[in-house]
Amino acid sequence: MNTLKLAVQKSGRLSDSSLNLIKECGITFPTRIAKLKAQAFNFPVEFLYLRDDDIPGYVADDVADVGIVGKNVLFEKSDNLDIIKNLGFSKCRLSIAVPRDFNYQGVKSLQGLNIATSYPRILSEFLKKQGVTAEIHEISGSVEIAPSIGLAEAVCDIVSTGSTLVSNGLSEVEVILRSEAVLVARPDLAGPQREILEQLLFRINAVQAANNSKYILLNAPNESLNKIIDLLPGMRSPTVLPLAQQGWSSLHSVVKEDDFWEVIEKLRAAGAEGILVIPIEKMIL
Ligand code: ATP
Ligand code: ZN
Repeated sequence: MNTLKLAVQKSGRLSDSSLNLIKECGITFPTRIAKLKAQAFNFPVEFLYLRDDDIPGYVADDVADVGIVGKNVLFEKSDNLDIIKNLGFSKCRLSIAVPRDFNYQGVKSLQGLNIATSYPRILSEFLKKQGVTAEIHEISGSVEIAPSIGLAEAVCDIVSTGSTLVSNGLSEVEVILRSEAVLVARPDLAGPQREILEQLLFRINAVQAANNSKYILLNAPNESLNKIIDLLPGMRSPTVLPLAQQGWSSLHSVVKEDDFWEVIEKLRAAGAEGILVIPIEKMIL
């Protein structure tokens, strides 16, 4: 049977969002992750539940066809996979941090230091590009405590809010990578698996477009319509329907989540009333 083998993190910061995305794509599967593998009920995909660090290697070695992993892990572990789609969740950054009392004056301050990290490859590429030589001390976890126990003078670690760094007396001085979850595949993935991937991608695009947009309905006097239509181009153009009240229309369109508040202000200024904004579940462009 033709099945797309999709590697996802078994348990951790990527797991829930990865499986939620799959659910939003209308794919159902057994909810208990007790096993290494599970088959979806209504789509030809088989999940492999793995440690995130192993996902790039398993995709590269053909054990899985595609995987969902953070860019940080992807770039550290492999450079021969294609990023099929940025997924927009598990956003974080890989940063260099030094003790708060360190007199940091730019990357040259890192020269000759001992830097602890779980990302030796990404860090050494960064340092090389900056023309800085430093000692890289690879450790697999709790990197942020390395300076306080005298193991290193600086760290290179994953940061999201920065509170872990602060509570360990460190300050973030360089962002070397901005990361988010990505869908990856081997460049040579072909045949039925490539076709299933295309179907999955079609659904992911529909879910992402919907999450980034809102459906908007409003009433406006007919003389304001042109101005309002300019503000709400929608998918093709807005739907305009006459209201029972003479001289008024109802207008339906789609607005981008990012532009939302700015557009609403302008619509009100242009004479729109009774504005309703509704979430969209799927959106096929
Ligand atoms: P595993 O047991 O699978 O090896 P892990 O402990 O290495 O898990 P997690 O902490 O679950 O990994 O993080 C998985 C990925 O989530 C990271 O590689 C990174 O891409 C992203 N990530 C890490 N920290 C955060 C955070 N604070 N906020 C959002 N995303 C994060
Ligand atoms: Zn890991």
